[in-house]
Amino acid sequence: MRPIGILGGTFNPVHYGHLRIAEELCDALDLDEVRLMPANLPPLRTAPGVSGAERLHMVRLGIAGNARLSVDEREVAKTSLCYTVDTLGELRAEFGPQRPICLMLGADAFARLHRWHRWRDLFELAHFAVAERGGHPSIATAPLDHGLAAELRARRVSEVALLAEQPAGAIYLAPTSVLQISATRIRALIGRGSSARYLLPPPVLDYIHERGIYRRLDES
Ligand code: ATP
Repeated sequence: MRPIGILGGTFNPVHYGHLRIAEELCDALDLDEVRLMPANLPPLRTAPGVSGAERLHMVRLGIAGNARLSVDEREVAKTSLCYTVDTLGELRAEFGPQRPICLMLGADAFARLHRWHRWRDLFELAHFAVAERGGHPSIATAPLDHGLAAELRARRVSEVALLAEQPAGAIYLAPTSVLQISATRIRALIGRGSSARYLLPPPVLDYIHERGIYRRLDES
């Protein structure tokens, strides 16, 4: 059974860093599809300051024309706090016990995994595919705390084929392109009137300019 990929995030806004890891992991892991899942009220971060509907729309614009990428609205549609462990539980119920689910995330996010709600339970629900993140230490060499290093040692696989053979529980460090792009930098560029071209898809940038998103924020 081909695995399904999930890329969660605030997508404030979606950019080529996100889209490129989705695209590359889709090929590398032979995924059926990748669902981009914008979060609502992420528990570990300040509220994004842009509406969930706008972030969702930007994701839709960003993935337009790519049949392998889709958007999953379940988190952004909720008004209460969402935890990944609950969302993965829902997906597991939908896809059944055998279908491999790969949660994709950047090295920066993986290094903070021990702060996620019931983080150890996540390994019962999904595999992890961790992408390098420019400006952050590689997970293979980074000092990891709070039991994460032990989990990585025990669960790390280097053969992608193994991800298709079991539904959850493995960690794959993916050799993806390192694009040093962040939403924080894009917000800061737009906020001060500088160009963010070539960091994100043109329709997303056009929408940001049309709506005055990030120009109307004090925060970046
Ligand atoms: P911000 O700058 O607002 O923190 P971000 O650019 O990190 O945002 P998120 O939506 O928070 O974007 O990221 C969602 C997921 O995508 C995270 O797992 C993050 O590590 C990963 N990611 C984002 N940008 C990149 C990138 N350039 N390379 C690899 N992974 C990335």
